Amino acid sequence: MQASTSRIESYFCKLNGTPISTNQSMNRLAYTEDERRAHHTFSELAVSLGMTVQTDAVGNTIARLKGSDDTQPVVAIGSHLDTVRNGGQFDGTAGVVAGLEVVALFNEHRIQPHHPIELIAFVSEESSRFGVATLGSKAMIGEFPIDKMSTLTDQDGVSLAEALRRCKLNPEVVEKACRSKTDIKSFFELHIEQGPELESLDVPVGIVNGIAAPTRLKLTFQGQANHTGTTSMMRRKDALVAASEMILFVEDAAKLEAINKTVATVGICEVTPASMNVIPGEVTLYVDIRSTSMVSKQRVHQQIRKKAYVIEQYRGVTCEIDVLSKEIPIVIERHIQERLQSACEEIDINYENMPSGAGHDAMNMAKLWPTGMIFVPCKNGVSHDPTEYSTVEQIAAGTNVLITAIRREASR
Ligand SMILES: [Zn+2]
Repeated sequence: MQASTSRIESYFCKLNGTPISTNQSMNRLAYTEDERRAHHTFSELAVSLGMTVQTDAVGNTIARLKGSDDTQPVVAIGSHLDTVRNGGQFDGTAGVVAGLEVVALFNEHRIQPHHPIELIAFVSEESSRFGVATLGSKAMIGEFPIDKMSTLTDQDGVSLAEALRRCKLNPEVVEKACRSKTDIKSFFELHIEQGPELESLDVPVGIVNGIAAPTRLKLTFQGQANHTGTTSMMRRKDALVAASEMILFVEDAAKLEAINKTVATVGICEVTPASMNVIPGEVTLYVDIRSTSMVSKQRVHQQIRKKAYVIEQYRGVTCEIDVLSKEIPIVIERHIQERLQSACEEIDINYENMPSGAGHDAMNMAKLWPTGMIFVPCKNGVSHDPTEYSTVEQIAAGTNVLITAIRREASR
C-alpha cells in the first residue's frame, strides 16, 4: 500500500482552502469561523470516504470507519486543525491529512479493519487564543479547565465559554467530551517535526520516544531603585544586573544536561521602573525548562535555586522563586514504539528515535491510551510561520509508516 501524493495534496488544499505553497500564512485560531470551516471540510471529506461523523461537546470532530467487529475498541488517528496567528499549512493539518489518507488506502484496497478506525480532528491545540494548549484532547481525557472557562479570555475579551457558544457548543456540558479508557485501543499522531534534526540527518521518519513537558518558574529579583547619577557603583542593588547573571546561568545549567536533551529559556524579562535614569529596582524573569527526563529538569531547577541564593548573598538583592507549573514528561510505551519501528522495517524506510520538544495532543492521549507519534521533516525546522513547509512526498512517506502500523494495530 502506497500513500497517494496527489490525494494528500488535494486534502491539504481543501482543508487549508489554498494550494500548497512555500510561503502561505494561515490564521485559523481556535473556535473561529475559519477553524470551524476546516472542521466542516474535514467532515465532508470523511463522509466521502464512507465514515460517520460527529462533533463532540468541546468541538472535536470525530469520524468513524466501521470495523468488521465494530464492538472492538477503536484505533484512533488524529491531530489538530487550528493554527497560531500567522502560522503555516502543515502543523496539525499534516496529521489530519495522513489520517484521511489511511482511510482512503483501506477503501482503495477494499480492506475492512477488524477494529473500527477513528479520525479525530482536535479543536484548539494551540494556546494562541486563550493561553491554554491542547484543549480538545484535554477534554477527551477529562482535564479540560472547566472552572476557568469564563475567566480565560482572548485579546478581544471574549471568554472561552462565549467562544464555545458562538460555535453552537454548550459550555455547560463540555465534560461529555470525556472518553472512557475502554473506548480506544490506541492513538497515533503524525506531525511535522518542528525542528531541524530529521532534515539534517536526511532521515524521512522520526519515531517519538518521549514528549518533553515544561517546568516554569517566575523569578522576582528585588533590588533598590535609585538615581543613576548619584548612586555610586559600590552602593547599588541593581536588580537587572543580578537577573542578568541568572539569565546566563540558566543557559549553562541546561547545557550541562545536554545528554538528556534538556533545554531552558528565559523568554520574558520585565524591568521596573524601566527608566533611563533609574537603577532597576525590580526584575521578573520567566524561565521555561523542558526535557523528557523529570530528573534532569529537577536538577536544572535546583541549580537555579542555588544560584539565586548565591546572587542574593553578594549583590544584596532578594530573589523569590514561584513554580508556575511542573508538568510530567510523557514516556511513549515501548510496544507502540516497536509497532512503528517494525512498520518502518517492513516497508524499508529509515527512521530515527527522538524526543518531542513541543507539546502535542498525543501527550494528553498518552495519559489514558497507548499512544504513538510519527514525525516527518519540515524545511529548515521552521514551524508556526508562513514558511513552514514539507513536501507531499515527505508526508506520504510518514503516512506509509502510519498505514502499515495501523493495519497491524487494527487487525484481529
Ligand atoms: Zn501541532
